[in-house]
Amino acid sequence: MIIIMSRAYPLIERVLDKLSQSGFTSHVIHSDNKIIITAAGAVRDELVDALMRMQGVEKVIAIDTPFKLVSKAFKAQTQVNVGKAVFGKGAFSVIAGPCAVENYESLLEIAGSVKQAGATLLRGGAFKPRTSPYSFQGLEIEGLKMLKDVSKSTGLGIVTEVVDPRTVDTVAQYADMLQIGARNMHNYTLLKEVAQVNKPILLKRGMAATIEEWLMAAEYIMLGGNEQIVLCERGIRTFEKYTRNTLDLNAVALVKELSHLPVIVDPSHGTGDWKLVSPLAKASAALGADGLMIEVHSCPEEAKSDGNQSLTPGNFAELMDKLTMILECTGKKIMRF
Ligand code: PEP
Ligand code: MN
Repeated sequence: MIIIMSRAYPLIERVLDKLSQSGFTSHVIHSDNKIIITAAGAVRDELVDALMRMQGVEKVIAIDTPFKLVSKAFKAQTQVNVGKAVFGKGAFSVIAGPCAVENYESLLEIAGSVKQAGATLLRGGAFKPRTSPYSFQGLEIEGLKMLKDVSKSTGLGIVTEVVDPRTVDTVAQYADMLQIGARNMHNYTLLKEVAQVNKPILLKRGMAATIEEWLMAAEYIMLGGNEQIVLCERGIRTFEKYTRNTLDLNAVALVKELSHLPVIVDPSHGTGDWKLVSPLAKASAALGADGLMIEVHSCPEEAKSDGNQSLTPGNFAELMDKLTMILECTGKKIMRF
């Protein structure tokens, strides 16, 4: 349940008592000139009616899903702005760049080409969560500095992953949008930490997370006070071995029904194969996704990570042209630099 109260009434304690007597766990959020109370428990019509009659209560939204603030019952649509990128409410944006920041020159070159093709945000991992401790772990702070420098010279906003609650503030100083990767979607300490940051969050779905778990992860961030969230479907682990992951486009269409948050798709990790990236990117645009995240490398065969799923700048530019045509049919506006 969500209860919206006017700030003018100092009657919140009575409402909280009523909720706790009825077995609900409540959280209070102060938002603009309203007080929002989220209450988790078994919703009964009589309780909704009783709350509605209490002084200071403006609205009671009976939501019986475990996620409340991210639910469509709470809000129709959210738009998230990151520099020149806009996600949601009819706007579609593309994030592109290498899997990892490797060196300044290569990052600058890739950034120039994705910008020219129409991407509005540059991606690149400085802290890389690798399955093997022997794999390239990222350039860390040096990588963040390179991202910032390239952002200054190209004007592209930066999306980069934060893997550790202790580095959230540092990453937030350099990035325009903080990425929570698939491996960290269940890291609740990290989710609570990014909720405190005044920067948009790109929340990837865990590789074995249900849709509900994904939305609950977003609920952590929203409950902590950060409403600027973009969800990213990046494929789930299935029995299929021909592809790295199985891109769950069901989830994209369904989450657009369940939540007001924008949803984008990462077909690079979703397939693991550059040849499948463009077809799945086009399908995502056609079905109503609010954007894409695509790995691009000037020389994929020499990439330090995820080269086999990275598009060349030429293939990326070709994809951008096709996306523009597809989005025209769907009525969405593609944001270009
Ligand atoms: C990435 O975006 O480079 C990445 C590590 O993605 P994921 O968390 O989806 O595996
Ligand atoms: Mn990658």
